[in-house]
Amino acid sequence: MASLVVVNGRVWSQPSATAVAVDGERITAVGADVDVSRATRVIDAGGATIVPAFNDAHVHFLMASRSLGQLDLFGVETTAEVERRIVEYARSQHDGWIVGRGWLYSAFPDGMPTIELLDRLVPDRPAYIESFDAHTGWANSRALEIAGAPAGRVLIEEEAMRQMTRHIPRGGRAEDLDALRAGMRLAAARGVGSVQEAGNGLKQLALWQSLRESGELKVRVRLAFDMTPGTAMDEWARRLDDYDEARGGGDRWISTGILKAFADGVVESRTAALLEPYADSDHRGEPLWEGGELAAAVRIADARGWQVQVHAIGDAAIRQALDAFEGTTPGRRHRVEHIESPDPSDVLRFARLGVVASMQPQHAEPRLTEVWRRNLGTPRAMRGWPWRELHDSGARLAFGTDWPVVPLDPFASLGVASQRLTQAEAVDAWTSGSAYAEHAEHEKGELREGMLADIAVIDLDLEHVKATIVGGAVVYES
Ligand SMILES: [Zn+2]
Repeated sequence: MASLVVVNGRVWSQPSATAVAVDGERITAVGADVDVSRATRVIDAGGATIVPAFNDAHVHFLMASRSLGQLDLFGVETTAEVERRIVEYARSQHDGWIVGRGWLYSAFPDGMPTIELLDRLVPDRPAYIESFDAHTGWANSRALEIAGAPAGRVLIEEEAMRQMTRHIPRGGRAEDLDALRAGMRLAAARGVGSVQEAGNGLKQLALWQSLRESGELKVRVRLAFDMTPGTAMDEWARRLDDYDEARGGGDRWISTGILKAFADGVVESRTAALLEPYADSDHRGEPLWEGGELAAAVRIADARGWQVQVHAIGDAAIRQALDAFEGTTPGRRHRVEHIESPDPSDVLRFARLGVVASMQPQHAEPRLTEVWRRNLGTPRAMRGWPWRELHDSGARLAFGTDWPVVPLDPFASLGVASQRLTQAEAVDAWTSGSAYAEHAEHEKGELREGMLADIAVIDLDLEHVKATIVGGAVVYES
């Protein structure tokens, strides 16, 4: 007996299988002769590929969902077009703040926009627009004034950005729920069945729980709780008490068990921490954690059963993260996120330490990396994003988008990754690799009897999603 059967497809990595049968939330059969006679629902794949639903190992889902209705400058390549879009958007908004995101460093002659430009485009109201990577804020004078930013600041980073966003009026809980609903619809349309939220998870727990209670969840979510520098270790231990409490049972829809830390910033704003100075500079970028601080915090979390993921982009930050994972509990699967520019001598440490390499291939798209390459200099840029070397050394890869940094588009990701991996290796990183990275490979990431029925029916060549099924429910059909 099956409640749902997908037929007439090519089952991923099982050449002889053409169909997948589902009962309730689980897969009951995979093969060529699956019985459809008593199925309540049959989906004809029409020769398309049946894959495990994509699992985005690194997203900022709530933040991205909130931005869906805002000014979007992603992919705009010239200053003139940036100007046109901002003016047009400002005209469409009757009053209040102009808020947006997504500008590329390469759209501006010096790799950075100016406050004067935004003052000219939006003279009368506060305006605040984040770079695509969310690491640089572009505000006009009105916005800086409201946020009480120090005079003379041109672009703002990290902590100053958090200050700024506190002053931007935001909808309440109802708006956040609507945003998540819109984000989930988008995820379903892209074949994404699971998302792993990279930070800020504690505050989101109640939102996700309420969507589950109303039966509206279309994706499974894993929420990372924050791990911040400058916290005394006894205070950190107390914070973990709160985290332990919030961790609760967890289930297959909403889970946690992972902590997110930033070891550095990004190359474009020269906040990534490097071993040697930036090109044409004597500046190396400051690590965000002092001396042995990160290692000490990781040790405490590790001993209490928490997995840790560390954002590390520059070679010095990547080394600091790997150093912090030395001697941790085997099988904890700590992770480094991004890994844009590791020192070659550190690449082999991932496999040896059992550290997951969580990467987002779209970040390596040439149109996004012009300033990145200029700031790093050719030798370091040439060895950037070594997912091939990491894979070959035996490290586990987990792929994702980092949405809203780049679009929530697994096909675009597979396209970039496939320049250095086979398509099969890239799809694995997006499915079984991401499942492994969240300790869920026994439940998802593969199509076989007993696994959760999280399935996408896709045309890999046309980059088209025909249907997405999560927990046995059809959440999207084209
Ligand atoms: Zn991120």
